[in-house]
Amino acid sequence: MTINISEILANPSVVREFRVEPSFEALELKQGSYPVSRKEPFVLTVSKEADKLHVTGETEIHLLIPCDRCLDEVDTAFPIRIDYRWNPDKEADGAEDVDEITFMDGCILDVDKLISDEIVVALPTKVLCKEDCKGLCSVCGMNLNHGTCDCDRHVADPRMAAIQDIFRSFNQ
Ligand SMILES: [Zn+2]
Ligand SMILES: [Zn+2]
Repeated sequence: MTINISEILANPSVVREFRVEPSFEALELKQGSYPVSRKEPFVLTVSKEADKLHVTGETEIHLLIPCDRCLDEVDTAFPIRIDYRWNPDKEADGAEDVDEITFMDGCILDVDKLISDEIVVALPTKVLCKEDCKGLCSVCGMNLNHGTCDCDRHVADPRMAAIQDIFRSFNQ
């Protein structure tokens, strides 16, 4: 979703509240697509004081991210705190403080871009469904949190490991 803030840009001193909601269904990244499992409307406050624009807002969004070990989807909460202040007239000059303002295009503020950028910087390097997740069996691929299999996962002989690799590629 986008909002048009031309009225605010044109006024030297004005405050407006917008009821907004992220409209994307999934966060698309190089490493995969993470579906949005929960989001809610929130108030985005846009104000102008002298030559500075100020954008603030707070919400929470949840994404389903696969567990690093067992690949089960983990409902991950991202608290979002937006607080940007910049001079829109300096945007064209490439001033330093406007480098991070990627969610503006002229007088259009892109709420989805604003939120997704906040998520990307907060993404954990590792997501686990639980601290002691047992992961997948390296032989049959079974999720070891849900049960056990009879595979011998202890491989002493490197030639056996090579054969296991071949079996694994057949199973995939
Ligand atoms: Zn797991
Ligand atoms: Zn197994």
